[in-house]
Amino acid sequence: MTATIRTPKRLRWRSLVLLALLLTPLLWPLQQLAERYYRAALNEQNRQTLDLYVANLLGTLNRYEVLPPILGQLPTLRQLLQHRADGQLRERANQLLADLQQQTGADVIYLMAPDGNTLAASNWDRQDSFVERNFSYRPYFREAMQGRPGRFFGLGTTSGKRGYFFAAAVREGAQILGVLVVKVDLDHTETLWGNRPEQLLVTDNYGVVILTSQADWRFHATRALDNAERAAISATQPYRIQSPPPLHLEPAAWLRQGRDLEDIGWTVSILAPRLLLDRPVRSAVAIGGAALLMLLLLLGLLIQRRRHYLERIALDARARQQLEQRVQERTQDLERLNSRLKQEVLEREHAQQELVRAQDELVQAGKLSALGTMSASISHELNQPLAAIRSYADNACVLLDHQRSEDARANLKLISQMTERMASIIAHLRAFARRDRHAPESVALQPALDDALALLGKRRRAMEVELIRDLPDATLWVQAGETRLRQVLGNLLANALDALGEKAPPRRIWLSAERSSEGVDLHLRDNGPGFSAEALQRAREPFFTTKTSAQGLGLGLAICDSLIRALGGELLLANHPDGGALLTLRLRAAEQGVKTQSPEDFCL
Ligand code: ADP
Repeated sequence: MTATIRTPKRLRWRSLVLLALLLTPLLWPLQQLAERYYRAALNEQNRQTLDLYVANLLGTLNRYEVLPPILGQLPTLRQLLQHRADGQLRERANQLLADLQQQTGADVIYLMAPDGNTLAASNWDRQDSFVERNFSYRPYFREAMQGRPGRFFGLGTTSGKRGYFFAAAVREGAQILGVLVVKVDLDHTETLWGNRPEQLLVTDNYGVVILTSQADWRFHATRALDNAERAAISATQPYRIQSPPPLHLEPAAWLRQGRDLEDIGWTVSILAPRLLLDRPVRSAVAIGGAALLMLLLLLGLLIQRRRHYLERIALDARARQQLEQRVQERTQDLERLNSRLKQEVLEREHAQQELVRAQDELVQAGKLSALGTMSASISHELNQPLAAIRSYADNACVLLDHQRSEDARANLKLISQMTERMASIIAHLRAFARRDRHAPESVALQPALDDALALLGKRRRAMEVELIRDLPDATLWVQAGETRLRQVLGNLLANALDALGEKAPPRRIWLSAERSSEGVDLHLRDNGPGFSAEALQRAREPFFTTKTSAQGLGLGLAICDSLIRALGGELLLANHPDGGALLTLRLRAAEQGVKTQSPEDFCL
C-alpha cells in the first residue's frame, strides 16, 4: 500500500526535473528568435526615428546654407564693406541684418571685413553683440576668404550657444570684399520628439559629441583624438574645453544605429537602451516558457492518464483473467461435485431400489409369516364350513332318499351359502398374500377394522380381551388399499394381543377414531406392558423384536410402517400415560366410495 502511494510522488519529482531539463535547451532558440524579432522591430523603429531626425537636421541646415551668398549681394552690405568707416551705413547694415535675422529665423547674421573684424551684426544692439569682434581664427572665415563656402560647428564664444556657421565671401569681381556669416542655432535640435528612452548622439568630424539628448555626454570624445586633431581643436575652439574627455559607454547596454552625414562630416546616432530589447524578450521567453511548460505538463498529464488507463486496462484484464480462472476452477469443482452427486444419486437410487426390493421382500415375508401364524385359525375357519357342508350334503342325500326334495333343496342352498363364504375367505387370503401395487382408493375404515378383528376374534375371545370401541357411526373414508389396510390393522391387533398375553387379566383393547385436519386418526390402545424405551426407538426397524424367535420375526411394524407411508399416511408409536401401548394410524381422508362387502362377511 505504501509503495503504491510513494511511486507517483517520486515520479512527479523526477518528471518535473526532466521537464526543466527539457525546457532549458528549448528556451534558448526561443530567446534567440524573440531577440532577433524585437531587435529588428526596434532597429526599424530607430531607423525611422533616425531618418526623420536627419531629415529635420539637414532641412534646418540646408535652409540656411544658401543664405550667405544671396545676402552678400545686398547693396547696403556691399557699400559698408567698401566704406567701413561710414557710421550711417553701419547703422543701416545692422538694421538690415537684424530684419533679415527676424525674417529667416537664423540665430545671428553678421558681416565681416577681410581682416576678420565684424562690421555689422543682427545682434548689434545686444549685450553679446558681435560688432567689432574679430573671428578671423574661425575656420569658416578662412574658408570663405579662400573663396569656398565656409562651414563650421562651434560654441558661440560670447553666447555659449551651439551653432552652425555658414559663411560666403562677398565679392567685387575677383576681389573679396568681406565675408557674410549666418549662424544657425542648433540647441533646439538636440532633443528627440516625445518622451522616449532612446538617446540622440551627434558627433562631429573629431568624434566629439556636439548634440545629444543626454546632457552629461555633451563635448565628450567617442574615440581617441590624435595630436593633429587636438591642435586643430585648440586652434578653432569649437568647444569651450581644449581637450574633450572620453565618453564611456557600456557597449552591451546600448543598441546603436548611426548615419554619416558626409557633407558635414558628422555622424548622427540613436542609442536605444538594451533594456528596451531585453524586456519584451524576457516576456516572450517567459510566455513561451510558460506555454511550453503548460504544453509539457499537458503532455505529461496525457501520458500519465494514458499510463493510468493502460494500467487500469491491464488491471481489469488481470482481474478478469483471475475471475475467469476462478470461475473455471469453480466450474471444474462444480463439475466434479456434480459428477460425484450424480454418482451418489445413482448409488442412492440403486440403494433405494434395493431397499424397495428388500421392503417388498419383507412385506412378502411378513405376509407369509402372518399367513403362517394365521394358518391354524384359517384351517379352523375353513374346516368348520367344510364339516357343515359335509353334514348338509349327507343330510341332503338322506332327504332325497326320503323324497323330501324341498328339505334337500334347503340343505343344498345352505351348502351353496357355505361355499360362497369359503370362497370369500380364500379370496381375502389371496389378496392378503398378493403384492398389492394399486394406487390408493377410497376405503371405509370401520369395515376394514371389523375384518381384521374378525380374523383375530377367536384368539381375542380365548384370551378374554375386552374390546372397547369408540368409533363414529358414520363411515370414515380413507385413502388406502383394502387388503393392505386390513393387513396393517390385523398386524397391530395381533401385536396388542401378544402384549396382553404377557399380563394377567383384565385385558383391554380400546379402539377410537376421529377426523383431524390432516385426515383420519385411528387410535389403538392396549393395557399391556407398553413399548420398552428401546422398542419405542427401534420398533419400526425390520427384524427388531423383543419376542422369542418362535413368536416373532420383528417384521410386523416395519411392514406396516412402509405400507402406511406408501399410502401417504403415518404410523405413530407411543405409550399411554395410564400404561400400555398407544398406536396411532394417521391416514388421509378420502371421498365417499362404494362398499364392496359387508362387515358380516368375516364375522366368525
Ligand atoms: P414382532 O411382533 O414379530 O416382534 P413387530 O414389528 O410387530 O414384530 O413388533 C416389534 C416390537 O414392538 C415387538 O417385539 C414389541 O416389543 C413391540 N410391540 C409391538 N406392539 C406392541 C404393543 N402393543 N405393546 C408392547 N410392545 C409392542
